[in-house]
Amino acid sequence: MTTMANHLPTAELQALDAAHHLHPFTNGHELAQKGARVIKSAKGVWLKDSDGNEIIDGMAGLWCVNIGYGRDELADVAARQMRELPYYNTFFQTTHAPALMLARKLAELAPGDLNHVFFSTGGSDANDTNIRLVRTYWAEKGQPERNVIISRWNAYHGSTIGGTSLGGMKGMHGQGGLPIPGIEFIDQPNWWVEGGDTAPEEFGLERARQLEAKINEIGPDKVAAFIGEPVQGAGGVIVPPETYWPEIQRICDQYGIVLITDEVICGFGRTGNWFGSQTFGIRPDIMTMAKGLSSGYQPIGASVVSDEIAQVLSGTDFNHGYTYSGHPVAAAVALENLRILEEENIVGHVQNVAAPYLKQKWEGLLDHPLVGEAKIAGMMASVALTPDKAARAPFASDPGVVGQICRDRCFANNVIMRHVGDRMIISPPLVITPDEIDILIDRARLSLDECLAQLEADGLN
Ligand code: PMP
Repeated sequence: MTTMANHLPTAELQALDAAHHLHPFTNGHELAQKGARVIKSAKGVWLKDSDGNEIIDGMAGLWCVNIGYGRDELADVAARQMRELPYYNTFFQTTHAPALMLARKLAELAPGDLNHVFFSTGGSDANDTNIRLVRTYWAEKGQPERNVIISRWNAYHGSTIGGTSLGGMKGMHGQGGLPIPGIEFIDQPNWWVEGGDTAPEEFGLERARQLEAKINEIGPDKVAAFIGEPVQGAGGVIVPPETYWPEIQRICDQYGIVLITDEVICGFGRTGNWFGSQTFGIRPDIMTMAKGLSSGYQPIGASVVSDEIAQVLSGTDFNHGYTYSGHPVAAAVALENLRILEEENIVGHVQNVAAPYLKQKWEGLLDHPLVGEAKIAGMMASVALTPDKAARAPFASDPGVVGQICRDRCFANNVIMRHVGDRMIISPPLVITPDEIDILIDRARLSLDECLAQLEADGLN
C-alpha cells in the first residue's frame, strides 16, 4: 500500500516529518534537530518503533487507549460500518443507528439522570459545546446574565478557543489572546506545591471554598457553571484531598450552579469506576467525554447532560453542531469499545487487579531519593520529584528541567512516561497485567536512578 510508509528507513521518515509536519505542543526547531520517534505498530500495552524497540506505553497514547492496542473487533466494526454507511450527518432531523445506539448506551452508563448526548469529535470541541450549551440553557430560563463559567488554574479542558479558555494553563492563554470573556479561575487543589503548612484535608476545603468566594465576588446571579476534571490530568495528575469535591458539590448545589465534570481522561474506567465523578462522589449536571469512549481508535467526544438541561434546551433551536457530530464510523467503534469494556469486565480488572497492584508498586517508589510524593487514582498516577522531601522543595533549576531529564531517560529505557514540570505521570492501558506493571515500574525506577545520577553529575541536585 503506497500510503503506508512504514517500510522506509527511520531517517527518511524523520526527514519527511520535519519538512512538512507541524506537531502539537512541540518546538518544531528542537524536534527537527532531534528527529521524531516513529511508532510503527502496537499491541496490548506495547508500542513498536521504527528502530524495532519494544516500548511499554505507560500513557495509553494520550490517556486514551483504555482497552489496549490491536483489538481487531474495532477494526472489523469500522470496516463494516464504512461499507454500509461511511458518513451521514445528524443535522436537520436526521439520525442513524450508530449515533442513536451510542447515545442510548451512554445514557445507560452515565450516573443519575445524565440521559442526553450531544456528540463532538473530541474533548476540546465537547467543552466548546458545553460553553454554548450552558449559556443557552440559562438564557432559555430567562437568566441570560448568568454566563460566567468558573474553572481552575492549571486545569486542562482542550486546545480550541473555548477549551483553552476554560483551561487554566497560562502558557496556552498567552498564545491567541485568551481566555474569551466570561471565564474566571480559582486555585487548584495541588497540596504538594501550594499547600504550605496546611494539612491536606484542610487545604482541600480551603481550595473548594474559593469557589464560594468567587461566586460571591462575581454575583451568584451571574454564574452559569463550574467545570473541573475529577483528577487534573494534564496538570500533573493532581489527586485532590478527599474533602475537596464534597465541598465543591455543596457550593454548586447551594448556589444552583451547573456542575460540569470533564471526564475526558477520568471516564471509562480510568479511576476504577466508569466515571471519575463516581469515584469522588460528584453529581454532575453535564459530563464531558472523549478519549476512552472509543479507546482512541476513532476521534469522538460527547457532552452528556441531565434531563432538566435537555428539557430546557429543547425549547429552542440550539444553533450548534459539527459535521462529524455522531459520525457513524466513530460511533460504531465507540459502541464496540464499550461492549469490550463491559463484557470483559475491564473496570472490574482495574478495581480488583490492576489498580491495587499498581498502587502498591507506585507507592513503593517513595523510597527513591528523588520521589517526594506518590499519588494515584485507579490507573492514573504521579510522583513529585524533589531535592528535599521533608521541605517539599522545588529544584533550583527552572521547573520542568529535571522532569525532562527523567522523561528522556524513560524514553531511552523504552517506557513512556510524561513529565509535567517536575512531576512524572502515568496512565497506562487499563488492561495492563501485573507482570507488565512490574516491567513498567522497573523501567521507571531505572529511569529515576539514571536521572539522579545525571543530576549529580551536572551539579543540579
Ligand atoms: N479535557 C481533558 C480533561 C483532557 O485531558 C483533554 C485532552 N487531554 C481534553 C479535554 C481535550 O480533548 P481533545 O484533545 O480530544 O480535544
